[in-house]
Amino acid sequence: MSINQIKRRLIKLWMTALMACLYLLVLSGNSISAQTTLRALIVDGQNNHGNWPDTSKMMKSYLEENSLFQVDTATTINKGTDENFQPDFAAYDVVVSNYNGAPWPDRTKTAFEKYMRDGGGLVIVHAADNAFPKWKEFNEMIGLGGWGGRNQTSGPYLYFDDKQKEFVRDTRDGRGGNHGRQHPFRVIVRDSDHPITKGMPGAWMHVKDELYDRLRGPANNIKVLATAYSDPSTGGSGRHEPILFVVEYGKGRVFHTPMGHSNASQQCVGFITALQRGAQWAATGKVTTQIPDDFPTVDETRSRETDK
Ligand code: ZN
Repeated sequence: MSINQIKRRLIKLWMTALMACLYLLVLSGNSISAQTTLRALIVDGQNNHGNWPDTSKMMKSYLEENSLFQVDTATTINKGTDENFQPDFAAYDVVVSNYNGAPWPDRTKTAFEKYMRDGGGLVIVHAADNAFPKWKEFNEMIGLGGWGGRNQTSGPYLYFDDKQKEFVRDTRDGRGGNHGRQHPFRVIVRDSDHPITKGMPGAWMHVKDELYDRLRGPANNIKVLATAYSDPSTGGSGRHEPILFVVEYGKGRVFHTPMGHSNASQQCVGFITALQRGAQWAATGKVTTQIPDDFPTVDETRSRETDK
């Protein structure tokens, strides 16, 4: 072979390799654009509910259904404030809190506030709204919270007045956070135009759960999507309490549901659907998750046996 022949062969080889690389690049580009899986981070590790490892796993599996989300979990290691707890919030489309424990380190709080202000997503489930009573910005994000010494200084009560057909912000003195006996209860949609509740039956039965009442907080930039009547006969407030709501915080979006006390409570198809849709909305501002055929009806609860 002459030197020129060798050169030509080498050039051909290089060209083939280059084309192969370009081809692979195009392929991966396509798969990225076709791949819509969002990223979620569940934060947990401390909770007054001992079943939190179960509910974290259940929520992970719900969010990973149909490849809606790819879910990681960040768990505090130490009791008390875990100085090493510094998740990379910015790497996620939404943070799902199953955490009710000691304060996070200051730099983690600052990073989380920035993440949310800049357009992050947050989902608050059940006792996650008991957390951080003294962290002002967290309470702005969650809108309403309970226990931990919350009272009139935390902000108003917020409930639906069925006679006036309007929400009431009630600033009278009193504790924040209470619940009566666990029981199944009816969820009533108050805003069926929101992407999370659009297409849901106007009323549906949730399985036995704790129905939080008398939550209070700043309640700024809040929109209540659904309420549940907290019946005095089960130890409740006699008010229609917020049960699905959203809060805007900076450019960030928050979906909050006080439902989800026990594993069985989180097997309700209504809870599962609300979680999936709420998380998708918090992450993107849109909802594509359908209301499933086995959704609860006005009189009947519906549960799914789920792995944990
Ligand atoms: Zn509970």
